[in-house]
Amino acid sequence: MRSTGNLVLEYHGRLADPYFTADCGGETEAAANLWPDGGQPYLVSFPDPYCAAGLHSSWQREIPLDRVARILRNGMGLRGRGPVRDLTVASRDSSGRAHTLEVLAGSRFLIDANQFHYAVGRELGWDILKSNIYAVERSGETLVFNGRGLGHGVGLCQAGADAMAGLLALATGKSWRTIFPARQCANLRRRRNLIQTRLHPANISHWSTRKLRNRGSAAH
Ligand SMILES: [Zn+2]
Repeated sequence: MRSTGNLVLEYHGRLADPYFTADCGGETEAAANLWPDGGQPYLVSFPDPYCAAGLHSSWQREIPLDRVARILRNGMGLRGRGPVRDLTVASRDSSGRAHTLEVLAGSRFLIDANQFHYAVGRELGWDILKSNIYAVERSGETLVFNGRGLGHGVGLCQAGADAMAGLLALATGKSWRTIFPARQCANLRRRRNLIQTRLHPANISHWSTRKLRNRGSAAH
């Protein structure tokens, strides 16, 4: 706690939005992919190898096709021309998360993967589709989802941070460089009672009430 006391992240002189996520599944999500109107430019997709051993690093869930039909009908107002026979990932965003899904229900049509995620959560609970990083295949009358991670994936990965805390000293700033995708956070300014340390070349302001030992060192 002492090593992170009085620290802030800035972007162009203003406090950055420090979003966090439960488990990014190995790749954080770009805010712009999730919130097109409000994607902060420093919340970019970023690989995180540290959450690979986390509780939610891989998961499998099954949803019967008739339940999928009910989710589409009740949760998304969609009604196919026939029973739902299949659902596949049609496109993925830049972080590998499902972006659009193709449904075969009499005819083929595309649906938004995020809207489907929310509809599944409301209908079956939020522990079914834990994230949008998944592959899906049909097995008999059931869809089998094999996924990674938990949550939207934007910002600092809590599972990765938890794992990293046991591996690295937070005072080096390496945790920020690696797991918080705020590479563009910059603009170093002195603040009252705070000492700035430049974490070159991460361009992240490190503010503390004490100097860091590795002042100016590169973080890897
Ligand atoms: Zn992660």
